[in-house]
Amino acid sequence: MVNLGQWDDGTPEKVWAASDWRARLPALPIDDLRRLVVVAAHPDDETLGAGGLIARVAALGLPISVLVLSNGDQSVPDSSPYSAERLAAIRRIDVMNAVAALAPDATLRLLELPDGALSDHVRDASAAITAEVLPEQPGTWIVAPWRADGHPDHIAAGDAAADAAKAGNARLFEYPIWAWHWSSPTEDVWPDDALRALDLSHAERDAKARALGLHQGHGHELYEAPGDEPLVKPQFSAHFTRGFETFIEAGIEAVEVDSDSDSDADEEASTRQEPTRPGESLPAPFFDQLYRGESDPWGVETRWYEERKRALTLAALPRQRFRSALELGCSTGVLTVELAARCDELLAVDSAEQALEIARARLGGAAERQVRTQVSAGGVAHRHLRAHHSLRGGVLLLSD
Ligand SMILES: [Zn+2]
Repeated sequence: MVNLGQWDDGTPEKVWAASDWRARLPALPIDDLRRLVVVAAHPDDETLGAGGLIARVAALGLPISVLVLSNGDQSVPDSSPYSAERLAAIRRIDVMNAVAALAPDATLRLLELPDGALSDHVRDASAAITAEVLPEQPGTWIVAPWRADGHPDHIAAGDAAADAAKAGNARLFEYPIWAWHWSSPTEDVWPDDALRALDLSHAERDAKARALGLHQGHGHELYEAPGDEPLVKPQFSAHFTRGFETFIEAGIEAVEVDSDSDSDADEEASTRQEPTRPGESLPAPFFDQLYRGESDPWGVETRWYEERKRALTLAALPRQRFRSALELGCSTGVLTVELAARCDELLAVDSAEQALEIARARLGGAAERQVRTQVSAGGVAHRHLRAHHSLRGGVLLLSD
């Protein structure tokens, strides 16, 4: 019986641990894997289902692409009207951090398809996954949510991955997520002999635990408001601290390819939902909302990754001092302060007024001392770029 909503009704991890089911699983050899494409229906599926595998493949130095189909903004339905947007923002940051913790060089693609309605967008998802597969290069593995996992978005993600595996001649492996909750060791829910186990090293388990922690909103007050409790409850996340991961290899011949019959409905849904496409800018109010929620949503003040990136950026500047600098996307001004120390003139630009307020406060006296510092909203950037003749021989920084 698939029951995804009742936390108390799930099978506890200790029941799985006490059973001998694990001993019956054959090992998963990854010798022929040359390129890994990981598909997640929601931000966190990639870590829950395949975080250990991602860490393994990263350590082998092989290319990894992670595609997250939805932004997960429907996971807290009881929240305030702004919470879905804010939740999406936070989950985007979480998945970026989590994937970076597992595989710093992995390519991450956030498709922003509508959470809860992926079944209307299987073809979009499949096209995006197919684009990550290089049919002329053998050895691509696609790993995706198991199509019998019970969650409609997971089924859709699995369908899209199966379609892409067929189109790109890739091997397809499916990872269960919710099945650990609704199934039990005594139920016969897996395809015969199809479930394989990948034993994880200590380092891989640690990396997965770190990534899982990043997904659970450490430091985000969002998860402390009533109705905003962490999506992944401790009794559920316990399934993903095991010393192994499990994958079901799909027979590609057996895969049902999405029929043409619902293509009109797909197209209709695509235009109706109008998700933000990769490469499209998010509106400025989105960022203001984000900074209103917390003063450091990207963790630039606290994360080693950010501190290191800042140090590398500053070290890469070829001269000790510059006459002028223009920093686009200055956010709350953490890098701006350090740049100010190396420039006579500095213009720092961001589209989020909330972030600029923090930046101005942070810069404080710098503007009044020897440095002429200005912090402006994004709309004026092009004017400054044109008028900023002194930028010649200066430095231009674009922040991600
Ligand atoms: Zn999911």
